[in-house]
Amino acid sequence: MTQNKLLHPHSNEPVLVPKYVTRFQCTGAACPDTCCSGWNVAVDRATHDAYVQCDHTDLSPKLKKYIQVHTAPTERAASTITRDETTGDCHFLSDGWCSIQSTLGEDWLSNTCSSFPRLNVRLGDTQFQSMSLSCPEAARLALTDRDAFDFQAPVLHIRQQDIHEVVSPWALSVEQMQSIHTFALQVVRTTDLKLWERLVCLGLLCENLGGYFKANNFDGVDSVLVGIEELICSGQVSELTQPFEAAHGIQADFFRSLWLLGRNPHANAYQLALQNTVDRAANTEAHTHHYIAGLKALDAVLENSHPLLEHAVLNDMLQDLFPFSGAEPMHNFLKLVTRFGFLRWILANVCFELGDKATLDDLVQSAQQFYRKFRHNPAFANALHESLSKAGWSTLDKAIPILKA
Ligand code: SF4
Repeated sequence: MTQNKLLHPHSNEPVLVPKYVTRFQCTGAACPDTCCSGWNVAVDRATHDAYVQCDHTDLSPKLKKYIQVHTAPTERAASTITRDETTGDCHFLSDGWCSIQSTLGEDWLSNTCSSFPRLNVRLGDTQFQSMSLSCPEAARLALTDRDAFDFQAPVLHIRQQDIHEVVSPWALSVEQMQSIHTFALQVVRTTDLKLWERLVCLGLLCENLGGYFKANNFDGVDSVLVGIEELICSGQVSELTQPFEAAHGIQADFFRSLWLLGRNPHANAYQLALQNTVDRAANTEAHTHHYIAGLKALDAVLENSHPLLEHAVLNDMLQDLFPFSGAEPMHNFLKLVTRFGFLRWILANVCFELGDKATLDDLVQSAQQFYRKFRHNPAFANALHESLSKAGWSTLDKAIPILKA
């Protein structure tokens, strides 16, 4: 067999991670919703070249058969490993494990397969790692354990190609970006406020930052953070949001339309179970009533202020290095609001439908399905992220009635 040089350069470096990342271990054959099913995996150039030259007796013919070269190949995506159209599984999945990894070793995995569910982001000298909650085990660890988002800085072995470098589209310094991102995470951890109120504070942060950025005034950034902190400490957030009514009817209609848009016609049995549960609650004229009752039921399942939704928001913010992944901070905020609102809508409908039987495990599984829906379907993710703007709700005063519960 062709001898494999190290295909993918690695480095060992300290990485800032939430605690749940350090606890993760792929469950392999025991995974109820394997990442090796339901999508065609992009293969980076270095891995593609190695696959083409591979002369392993068993794997080489399969690699030649199931790799589809892109018409416009790039370094990140030179080809695709197609899936078995009957089962939806990757052709290399064998007894729940990857046969490329078990036969040739981890270095032969594409960047996509090697990194999943890990997501690496670098800002200046600081490296962050979180995980996609479309992985059932990552979702369980991130959303169940109360200390999942205590931070640690272990030294990790990381592929260089897996790192997403974040640069500011504005003339902000790395230090300013780090302090804004850290401040935003702290706001979401302010348990004196309801979670939707914390998100309103993020909206204020983004709206104000946007104004300063447009005016090219980057010295005013600190005053924005101080102003939001004072607002929170003085207890004025409730006064600010009090004039706004929760638009439950609009929330129910809006997120139901997204649900119908993101339906998966190829759902497997595990995915269908959630799809059918939500359908039963939402595909009826009484769906707004069901949603409102479900919100109360959701509170009951998340008793003792269980931080499941807070953790989901924090994880989203880490992956986007909030608020620096959109064209402007407000764009990033609207993406976060849509994901939060849609997830809450799904969980409320699950709680309504399951009634007293709903458990934290049901919520974690539902959240995992939600993340799988938009992580593995880029067209749906784009539609989701643009939906608030398209509906004309791209300002904070329009977003508050969508957030308020
Ligand atoms: S989804 Fe997660 S636990 Fe399941 S096979 Fe993939 S990495 Fe492992």
